[in-house]
Amino acid sequence: MDSLQFSDVEGYGELLPRVLDAALGHLDELAHRPVRMPQTRARLHELLGGPLPLTSTPAEKVLETLVRGGQLGASPSGSPRYFGYVVGGTLPIALAADWLTSVWDQCGVIYDMSPLTGTLEEICGEWLVDLFGLPVGTSTAFTPGCTYANILSLTAARHAVLERHGWNVREQGMQGAPTITVLANERIHASVRRALNVLGLSGNLRKIETDADGRILPIALERGLKKASGAPLIVCGQVGDINTGAIEFLQPLCEQVHDAGGWVHLDAAFGLWAAATDMRHTLLAGLENADSWATDAHKWLNVPYDSGIAFIADKAAHRAALAMSPDYLQHNQPRERHTLDWGLSMSARSRVIPIWAALTQLGKDGVARMVQRHCDQAKRFARLLAEEPGVEIANNVTLNQIAVRFHHPTHDTDTHTQNVTDAFQHEGIGWAQTSIHNERKILRLSIINWATTEDDIDRAAESLLRNHRRLIHQGDMARCAQSVITNHRRIKEAGILQP
Ligand SMILES: *Cc1c(COP(=O)(O)O)cnc(C)c1O
Repeated sequence: MDSLQFSDVEGYGELLPRVLDAALGHLDELAHRPVRMPQTRARLHELLGGPLPLTSTPAEKVLETLVRGGQLGASPSGSPRYFGYVVGGTLPIALAADWLTSVWDQCGVIYDMSPLTGTLEEICGEWLVDLFGLPVGTSTAFTPGCTYANILSLTAARHAVLERHGWNVREQGMQGAPTITVLANERIHASVRRALNVLGLSGNLRKIETDADGRILPIALERGLKKASGAPLIVCGQVGDINTGAIEFLQPLCEQVHDAGGWVHLDAAFGLWAAATDMRHTLLAGLENADSWATDAHKWLNVPYDSGIAFIADKAAHRAALAMSPDYLQHNQPRERHTLDWGLSMSARSRVIPIWAALTQLGKDGVARMVQRHCDQAKRFARLLAEEPGVEIANNVTLNQIAVRFHHPTHDTDTHTQNVTDAFQHEGIGWAQTSIHNERKILRLSIINWATTEDDIDRAAESLLRNHRRLIHQGDMARCAQSVITNHRRIKEAGILQP
């Protein structure tokens, strides 16, 4: 077969059932097989690489090779005992909807190109604003992830704060514009720093000191605001620190910034979902007073990658910063939603379809229960670990993130924490990675998969503790052996053992 005929590419009927088999096999295995990171780059190159094939390959063969590649090289990120980074699982209904998204191959841009997408964006936008208790009328954009949502929110912020100083950044650009002061939580996620970079705002970034868990100190903010007085101002805080899950003191933060005439942007990649629970009235009180919020659906809503959402309270500012109407995209429906007026992309995957499916299945109550369960599981995990001598929980476990330090009677804690993590990863009961928190090494655990059970938590905690004890014990054994050798040498030197 050296030229591909249309008839050759027909074959959904043969391919899709095989995909279903492979998918069910993979998903079924996830909970049972070791949670280990594959070390297979060379084998993947062998299997999937080499020169681009000159001639065509039968689709079934392509699929077979790809499935093999997936078996070899896919990380176990969907496992209920994968606690690495902050990686959400995938709800079955969201996966099903994601498959349909590909089947329908929808692309938003303007309403006409996908009435389904435009309408679902309206529906889900309102649902999410309600779920999180954001101001009625807050506008939304569905993005590839929280990084894009941060870029988009800060694009609106930049437009609005410059507008207040008589500058239209869309028309006049950034060169010669009034200088915008940006104050950010000193631990702000790299994603926000990238957004500021892209927007030409990093030059005037001032970091604001936080407490040990990563919340901006009101007094430090006060000082920063004093210095910024009168200038266009954006303040970036976080709802869910990447290591500790900490949430800013939202009420006073928003008040302080608004009194100074600034815009509050919150990086809320996973923490925003906690607003669906009763924590909305405690930890998240005052959330609605910010000006923009960026989050991920692929984290705590458990839809497949990739999927983020931006929320902007001032709809007019959002639209003014982004709306576009190129001549070639004729749209005659002024009332319908045209995706391109709200997002950064033009053509984009209809990410809202799995979001709609997940929200519909779970309902407000189901989202709240899933998020609360993960927070409770995190507390259980932390408690199990903390009962062991030498194990320190290095954060206040309020959300789903746990920062753990493993102490050793003689070794340095950073090294032992790394060694316990390596041994945990090697054992394959669960998986998580180290991070740096307050300049010290921690093991960071994130509970964020709908499929995780208490038994999964218990098994992972046991594995960690087993390795922590074994490494200490091994240290003891090594020291013991060392002292036997030393004694032996001393005895020898003293001539006692000489014949
Ligand atoms: C994951 C994360 C981001 C980046 O989100 P992406 O979806 O990876 O672009 C930003 N901030 C926080 C706190 C995160 O956890």
